[in-house]
Amino acid sequence: MLRKRVYLDNAAATMVAPEVLAAMRPFFSGRYGNPSSLHSFGREAHDALDRARATIAQALCADPSEIIFTSGGTESNNLALQGVLQAACGKHVIVSAIEHPSVLLTARHLSSLGYSVSYVPVDAKGCIDAKRLSSLLRPETALVSLMHANNEIGTIQDLTLLAKICRQKNVLFHTDAVQSFTKVPLDVSKIPVDLVSISSHKIHGPKGIGALYVRRGTPVNALFFGGPHEFELRAGTENVSAIVGFAKAVELALDSSAITRMTQLRDRLISRILSQVKGSVLTGDSKRRLCNSVHLQFPGLDAEALLMHLDLVGIAVSMGSACSEKKMGTSHVLDAIGLSSACANGSVRLSLSRYTTAAEIEYTITQLVRIVRSLQSVSRR
Ligand SMILES: *Cc1c(COP(=O)(O)O)cnc(C)c1O
Repeated sequence: MLRKRVYLDNAAATMVAPEVLAAMRPFFSGRYGNPSSLHSFGREAHDALDRARATIAQALCADPSEIIFTSGGTESNNLALQGVLQAACGKHVIVSAIEHPSVLLTARHLSSLGYSVSYVPVDAKGCIDAKRLSSLLRPETALVSLMHANNEIGTIQDLTLLAKICRQKNVLFHTDAVQSFTKVPLDVSKIPVDLVSISSHKIHGPKGIGALYVRRGTPVNALFFGGPHEFELRAGTENVSAIVGFAKAVELALDSSAITRMTQLRDRLISRILSQVKGSVLTGDSKRRLCNSVHLQFPGLDAEALLMHLDLVGIAVSMGSACSEKKMGTSHVLDAIGLSSACANGSVRLSLSRYTTAAEIEYTITQLVRIVRSLQSVSRR
């Protein structure tokens, strides 16, 4: 018998869309030229690269010359933070307490090099404190890096407000938009953001490809050296097939009906669990929340046991952030919003995709309610 499998860990990685795979395939066989080569093979690859860059630029209302392809969100965040600080005079950087590890650990590295790092706190819903941001800005602040939407609890920030605060003080502003890209509009012609990190594998593209939007004129140093690729900001032969796949994924993701459907399924999941499981709590903000993200607390429960039981019936969810899952200890995000360890240790994240069906959500609700109740009755004994 085929076991039912339901994948609800789309904040960690997504299925490559069939159309994406089809778009990539020719670039592994017939069209394998190096985009820097002058012959027809090279020109073919170069044209594909240009088209992909234009598609991705358009999704952000940017100019194609402002899109730097990287190996993913992690590299984009590293390039934004290290590249801007290396090029800047000021030695101060501000990040939020709930950033992805690729921002937090880059900030820690910068601090070990002698830069000074400030952390903006968030409230109990995970919203960044704009007043505290204002008070942390100094004349020597070179960069502020605040994520658009959080990967663990799904809270969406008021990016316009935060970016405007920085622009008023003439401080460069970077946002990690890996989770929000194509789900929450981000128009760089309207929002004064200078750098934006995005990644392909969170939106049904291949892994190992992403981009950094760099507003024209923003001083950024390259992190490694070689050819003049990517406007001299990222040396190395372009990953043409992955870039083509990334662009196809962006095209497909800009379908607003998918967002409406995910939102409906998300809200059904949330309301049914909250009403059927006594003591369950939704983490984060109920309104300012990613359309595909659900983070639930079952205080007193062991999230790892819950995850394993769900896995036994084919349902894949995550505890806290997938990036820190293998490490023990509570998540820095749940710490920052002030969750007790009983609540944090009993929490799981379920993240949907546009391929998630109503039947899968029904099955998940039934199984989750059953397992949580049985674990609760065991722990009460
Ligand atoms: C996944 C993720 C990243 C890292 O992106 P990779 O492409 O996996 O390196 C960075 N920031 C956030 C918010 C993410 O969710």
